This record gives sequence, C-alpha cells and structure tokens, in this order.
Amino acid sequence: MAGFIPEDKISEIKNAADIVDIVSEAVLLKKTGKNFSGLCPFHTEKTPSFTVSPDKQIFYCFGCGSGGNVFSFLMKQEGLSFPETARRLAKRYGIDLPIKRLSPDQKKKIGERESLLDINRRAMDFFYQALCRGKAGQAARSYLERRGVSQKTIDDFKLGYASDSWDRLLKYLTNQQISPAVIEKSGLILPRKNKSGYYDRFRNRIVFPIIDTNMQVIGFGGRVLDDSLPKYLNSPETPVYNKGRSLYGIQQAKDKCRSTGTVYIVEGYLDLLALYQHGIENCVATLGTALTSDHVRLLTRYAGRMVLVYDSDEAGIRSAQRCISTFWREHIDFRRQDVFSEDKADTHILVLPAGHDPDSFVFEHGPEAFMEAASNSPGIITFLMNRAVDKHGLSTEGKIHIISELQQSLAAINDRVAQALYVKQLSEKIGIAESTILERIRSISTKSSKIGYPGLPTNTLRSGLQTRDEKNTVLAADKGPAGILAGNRVERQIIAMMIQFPDILPDIRKYNVLKLFSDNTLKGIGESILDFNPTSADQVSELMSGIDDGPTHALIASLAMGNESWNRKGCLRLIGKFVESGRKLRDGGLLESQIKDAEKRNDHKLLLKLLSKKQKMAENSEKQKMALLNEV
Ligand SMILES: [Zn+2]
Repeated sequence: MAGFIPEDKISEIKNAADIVDIVSEAVLLKKTGKNFSGLCPFHTEKTPSFTVSPDKQIFYCFGCGSGGNVFSFLMKQEGLSFPETARRLAKRYGIDLPIKRLSPDQKKKIGERESLLDINRRAMDFFYQALCRGKAGQAARSYLERRGVSQKTIDDFKLGYASDSWDRLLKYLTNQQISPAVIEKSGLILPRKNKSGYYDRFRNRIVFPIIDTNMQVIGFGGRVLDDSLPKYLNSPETPVYNKGRSLYGIQQAKDKCRSTGTVYIVEGYLDLLALYQHGIENCVATLGTALTSDHVRLLTRYAGRMVLVYDSDEAGIRSAQRCISTFWREHIDFRRQDVFSEDKADTHILVLPAGHDPDSFVFEHGPEAFMEAASNSPGIITFLMNRAVDKHGLSTEGKIHIISELQQSLAAINDRVAQALYVKQLSEKIGIAESTILERIRSISTKSSKIGYPGLPTNTLRSGLQTRDEKNTVLAADKGPAGILAGNRVERQIIAMMIQFPDILPDIRKYNVLKLFSDNTLKGIGESILDFNPTSADQVSELMSGIDDGPTHALIASLAMGNESWNRKGCLRLIGKFVESGRKLRDGGLLESQIKDAEKRNDHKLLLKLLSKKQKMAENSEKQKMALLNEV
C-alpha cells in the first residue's frame, strides 16, 4: 500500500503519530472513559458520536460510520492520498523520508505542489512588506485606513500590496533563482502577448492571500484602490488552488466556528474583515463563486448553522435558489438520522437593510445589531416563501405565481417529512390546500428523484429508525458496496472477536472458520487478520495499514471499537455455533436437495448412499461440537 515509501518509514511514522493529537486539530475532543469523543467532522451532528481510541489508535463515528486510523483520518479529512498523508505526518514528526524512490511523475507532482506553495508564501511576504513598509504602499495603507481596516487585521490576514509595476514580483522571485516557467504556474505572472517574457498579474492592488486550513497560501485575491475595473481579481485555478473548494478566511475562522457552531458566509473580502474587526470572527467569504457543495462540506466540519449574508434581496434570492439543492443534499447526506425541520437544516439567509453591505452595516450599527439580525434571519425556504408572497401578493394570480415560483425549490427537498412541513407552512400562508400544493411538487419530485445520490443506500437514508447495531455497520456516505450491509451478524461478531481477542486466532485457523463466511468483505478482513497475526488488540491501526481501502478501514474500526470482554470459553462457543450452523447450511442444503431429487427419481441406491452420508455428517458435526466443548 505504501508504494514508494519504505515500510520501515511507514512504521516509524505510525509509531510517532498520535491519533488523538492529529484529530484534536480538527475536532474538539473530550475524554470519556478510555476514549475521547467529539462532534464528527464528517457529518453534522449536535451530540458527539465520533469516538477516538488512544489505545487502539483508531477513530469511529457511530453516527455516520466513518472510521479508520490516523492515516485514514487525514486522507478523509484533507482529501490527501496515502503518500501525501505519510509525507505530511513525517514532516510533522520530523521523520526524514527518502524521496528517491518516487517515480518521476510522482516526484514532479509533489515537487510542483510544494514549489507553488513556496512561491505563494514568498509572494505573500513580499506583498505584505510592500504594504507595511514600502513607500509605494502608502496609498494602499491610507485606502485601508479609510475603510477602517486596522493594522492588527492587516497582520492577522497578512494583507499586502502589489505595486503599480509590471514586473516587481517577477524580479523579486527570479532573483531568488525561481524559474519564470514555474512562477507562471502559480498564476502570479502571465506571459507577454509577444512571448517575450512575463508580467505581474496583480498590479496596484490590495492583495488578500487565501490561506487554507493547513496554513498553506493557496492563492490570492486583489482589489483596486479606486473605481477602476475589474474591481476584484483572483488567482486562476492552479494545482494548489480551486475556488470551488476554497473559502477566504477559513483558517482564521475555524476555531470560532467550532466554538459558536455558526458560520457567516459573506461575499467580499472587506465584508469579512469588517466583521472580523468587530469580533465576529466566525466568518468566511466565497471567492467570486456561488457556494458549492464542497464549500458546504468543508463548513459542516466546523459549524452546523450557516448564515448566508447578502446585501440585497435579489442576490439573496438568486443564491438561495441556487443553494437549496446543494444544502439539502449535503445536509441529508450527512444527517441521515435526523428528522428534518427547518431548525435542523439550519441554513439561514440574512439580507441586510437596503443600502448596506456587511462592511457598512457593522461599522454603522455595531456587531450586536448584526448578530441580532442574524439570529432573526429566516431559514432558506421560509426566506423564499416570504419573498414570493411579498412580490406577488395574495390575489388569485399572485398565489398561482407563488406556487410556480416555489415548486422547484420545494421539490428539491428530498426529505418527505421536511417537504411536508414546508408545504403545510406555505398552505397556511397562502390559503391553498396542502394536497393541491403537494400534488404539484410531487409531480416534479418524481422526475428529479430518479437521479438519486450515488453511494448512499436509500434504505438507510429513508428509515430514520435503526438499531444501534445496524447503525454500527452502516458506513460513511462515500463507502463502496462493502459497507452497506456488512455481512451477517455472527460473521461480524467473529471478526470483532478476532480483532479484539487475537488469542483466538489459532482456533479460527484450526476450524477453518473463514471458509464458512458468506460475506466476502468480512472474509477478506478475516484473512488479513490471520496474515497479519496480531498479538494484541492494540494493533488494529497497523492491521489497517496493510489494507488499501477506506470503506474497509471504517468497517474494521466499527468492529474494533467495541468493548466486549472476550474470554476463550465464550469465543469457542461462538465459533462452535457458527461452524455448526454454517456446515449445516452449506453441506446440509446441498445434501437435502440431492436426497429430494433421488426420492423423486426413485433411485433407492443413491438415496441410501445419501442418507448414510447425512448420518455421517451429523456425527461429524457432533464430534466437532464435542471437541470444541471439551476445550471450553
Ligand atoms: Zn460521523
């Protein structure tokens, strides 16, 4: 699995990395008995079902079924590949990784990412110095001062200034022996039209570095100091920057988002900075795009309540309409257990009074007024309903318009309970029977629901009621087929036993227990356990490292997390029961049908042979049982 990273290095990393340490950076963990628990970063929840075991060095979420070791955690959380994760951990724990064994392609890829991040960081420092110290930065400094941006905010966000020159940054970077061809990939410079050299992309602009949750500078935004156009300019997409996945301010906002459970989403850099300066630090800005599902997924790691802040009705309506299916999909995906209500969806639209953007509003009315307005902001659907009623009025024609305007949004709610609740709300508001509205939107829903959501078992999505046991086997939303119904109960129990009580492994071998497994995923895990041959339950994380499959990690974590107290006697009894019933099922089933067949054909000779075989089998299974019981 490790590919080009040597095994001994992987185990060195594994020994050095502590899962509690790593998870703590993303999740607020509380000690609960032997384990730690917190709110799951992979689905939205209000009560913690995310569990980390320091002994076993694994995590498991009883809500969404994500699980694995420190590697799987980082891979899932940061979207990294295994080698990237290993490199990240190695760096963190000061372990030297040889990179000689990279294929030229891999080397190139990793090298490119790192050099782009390095260039970005140098550029950020360069712009920052230019703003804070340079003579040329004076105009930019006064501009920010006029906008009320304090020096502390400039420092916290490392704001900068790109001077009014064609090649100042280019010269600065090439003087440090960085080739223009590489700088071009960062998007900071562009080739001249006549192909003779390059020029700086950001000129005479305030520069806002875009920093991700790992403190990496992934891109930049630039704003003019006057009214010239374009007012805003952003880095192009690069190997390290994807605007549909990046949010401005997330690094500075994430802690406050987590502690308050709320995130404010604004449109502009300066809006964000204004709120930040007024103590509203749980705020991010989209970078000139509509909110994407990647954004929502990123934010749900940190906050359950999202408030989208707009400066006009029109922008609010457009964005609300666009966001509805995104939000619904993301929230439904991650909150399968919840019965929906507007409260649970918890996505709000705040439209500021006419003439105000967040920047001007908070400077004029103060942070309390902003928070107050935000706490009274309607949920996304209620917002659309109110606007439709305001716009069309309650005349007969108005009502017809209202319904046709809202039907698409209501149909996009793929949770029937939530949908019914909103329909009821609308029915009360405009005085049209619920059934009439429902009929209209369901005709649209059935058309769109056929698309479905890949990777999600609809049965678990729909049924809100699951037993704890079932819940444990339902894996994360991005699982493959392996996790959907992880084998039968006894087979799961046996694997759990093998992980938690490895003393039993010789018996598993001796009685060929795995041969009788009907579930191939579980069987495969069982075989890996036998191969790995752990001597204690603490080795589960290492066991996972030998298996190159995320969903399987989650399944193993779910089976390893239990705290059953196993003893040899109980184990053997379980094995005996399983072996007996398995054999009966497998051989008995075949034999029974052969007997029936012989009976039908009146083949007495064969019948006698089969019956004696049956007798022998029964005796054998009795012997086996006695053997097992004797050991007990
Ligand atoms: Zn979860």
